[in-house]
Amino acid sequence: MSSTRIAFTGQIILPDRILERGAVECAGGKIVRVAKGRASRDANVVIDAGDGYISPGFIDIHVHGGAGADYMDGTPHAVRQANRAHLRRGTTSLFPTTTTGSPEEITRMIAACKEVARKWKPDDGARIAGVHLYGPYFAPGKVGCHSVDGRREPTADEYDTYFSSGIVRIATCAAELPGAEAFYKAARRRKCLTTCGHSDASWPEMATAYKAGMRHVDHFWCAMSSVPSVRARLGTPMRGSMEQFVLAHEEMSTEVIADGQHLAPELLAYAWKMKGPQKLCLVTDANRALGMPPGTYRFGPSDTGTFFESDGKVGFVPGSGLASSVVALDTMVRTMLRDTPAPLEDVVRMASLTPAERAGVARSVGSLEVGKLADVLIFDAKMQLKRVFVHGFSAL
Ligand SMILES: [Zn+2]
Ligand SMILES: [Zn+2]
Repeated sequence: MSSTRIAFTGQIILPDRILERGAVECAGGKIVRVAKGRASRDANVVIDAGDGYISPGFIDIHVHGGAGADYMDGTPHAVRQANRAHLRRGTTSLFPTTTTGSPEEITRMIAACKEVARKWKPDDGARIAGVHLYGPYFAPGKVGCHSVDGRREPTADEYDTYFSSGIVRIATCAAELPGAEAFYKAARRRKCLTTCGHSDASWPEMATAYKAGMRHVDHFWCAMSSVPSVRARLGTPMRGSMEQFVLAHEEMSTEVIADGQHLAPELLAYAWKMKGPQKLCLVTDANRALGMPPGTYRFGPSDTGTFFESDGKVGFVPGSGLASSVVALDTMVRTMLRDTPAPLEDVVRMASLTPAERAGVARSVGSLEVGKLADVLIFDAKMQLKRVFVHGFSAL
């Protein structure tokens, strides 16, 4: 790799515009030149996208698994299996996401991710940029497809052991739970992106959480409060919900599952329009059925997770509701382009730089800029993924 200088030429997707005809050059695993026009003479390999696009690798801040594996299976083998499935689909950095589960299951998952991250090589699939501590601190009525037995309230004794692993970068808790405020403060001290999810929180509860450092809400409109749900819990006068709080606060970011199954086009377009590409992330929330045939699977740990069905388009629990997605970020990007008026540079930003910024890893990944890691995707003119490079190595 050291003596190879690869130039990618084509339409370059920058965070705020498309560079019509340009070159991105990489050497030693990093981006060393981004410029208009042709590849420089120093480049000894030129990969031309023709009328297609050169994009930064995607970043997924909310992902449970793929290719039959859930991160909560808790083995390095399962972690790599899921990471490879996502890399093949254009995700170069991700944050394996816990479900509800016992402290032992969560500890095992974090340890497995840490081991894979420590020894990472391009063959292992997408790079682990951190762990998303997501379950178990959900509101009792908002557990969704996660195991109810694995839900509980936050206690410092428990979460301090997770934070002390040093790999937790994103931390979720339902804002109305006893102990939520202390949890958010602890997560902020660890410099985590601190998020409220699987929650029925009211505006005042969100305001308290915001003061404690909460700045993000998981999968907008899914497993979260609404004005009617808060009225059902707290009576009148009707109060603001998580939705109003996120839309009214510039500093709050959120994410959408843009698989075309969870949210209709008007909601995807509305989220982009209201929050803008700098505060809205595309996430997969993908489970182990990604890349697998339709059938019955377990959400969460292979032995204690709840059962759901996949029809190849989405996960669902018959008679209940959706159970997260079974497709990757390349599909989310195409869905946003098809279903909303968001321009290509906005859509790609929401799958790369925005999640990188929110999770605190934008110094090294998230855009095609000199000095960042050589995580580069090649798309054809219809945004079908053609090639994937991670750290300068070809993965697809
Ligand atoms: Zn969820
Ligand atoms: Zn999830």
